Amino acid sequence: MVHFVGAGPGDPELITRKGARLLAEADVVIYAGSLVNPELLDLCKDTAKIYNSASMTLDEVLEVMYDAEERNFTTVRLHTGDPALYGAIAEQMDALDKKRIAYDVTPGVSSFLASAASLKKEYTLPGVSQTVIITRLGGRTAVPDEESLKSLAAHKSTMCIFLSVHMIDDVVKELTAGGYDKDTPVAVVEKASWKDERIIRGTLKSVGDKLKEAGITKTAMIIVSPCLEAEYELSRLYAADFSHEFRKATK
Ligand code: SAH
Repeated sequence: MVHFVGAGPGDPELITRKGARLLAEADVVIYAGSLVNPELLDLCKDTAKIYNSASMTLDEVLEVMYDAEERNFTTVRLHTGDPALYGAIAEQMDALDKKRIAYDVTPGVSSFLASAASLKKEYTLPGVSQTVIITRLGGRTAVPDEESLKSLAAHKSTMCIFLSVHMIDDVVKELTAGGYDKDTPVAVVEKASWKDERIIRGTLKSVGDKLKEAGITKTAMIIVSPCLEAEYELSRLYAADFSHEFRKATK
């Protein structure tokens, strides 16, 4: 059995209880060493065989899984954040399907949510934005044309941009070409929830220089959102004149 587990964004307390249990029970652990906090490996059994996938190819990762399966071992494949976002788990699951090896997936706290927590912000303010776009700039992995940052910018919603901080000038160029005002607030969270987390706040105009000055080039989330500095309406859910299943209006 192979368990794909979301490790969370960095703080070892942000793995789920289920993920922690699976990690503690695993005979073989393959973790994404570039981003998973190695402190999580303290949860593993002394006898667990641990592999860092940062230096492995897909075939090498799969070989470790097939071999563990033959020995009746339990494998945990530990991915950063939540495995469903930029985790490259689909190709592993497809390969396991072909070999008829059973697997399951345990979700994790994604870095775009850890970033909101670090910023102490809500991405969905009533009257400001009710939509969150999760995306990236095309790099060595291409992004479909219909999903270019420029075209997504037309929505002026909250955008969480992964894997792109090293190309911040291009990010700013595309977003402004797509319709975002130069004064739109931007926050960049580097290593959200880690002890050495850093936060840069600015606007589309200022963020490039600020990031260069801070020397931030990787493991960072770019958040572009009118919600970062907006006047907003109070929620309907908690409004006194609003009835719902669990509460009657008092006004
Ligand atoms: N599955 C992961 C994303 C993997 S892609 C998740 O759900 O978070 C790797 C990208 O995620 C990085 O380039 C960066 O943009 C973002 N990222 C991962 N961990 C981060 C963290 N702790 N703080 C900020 N961004 C992070």
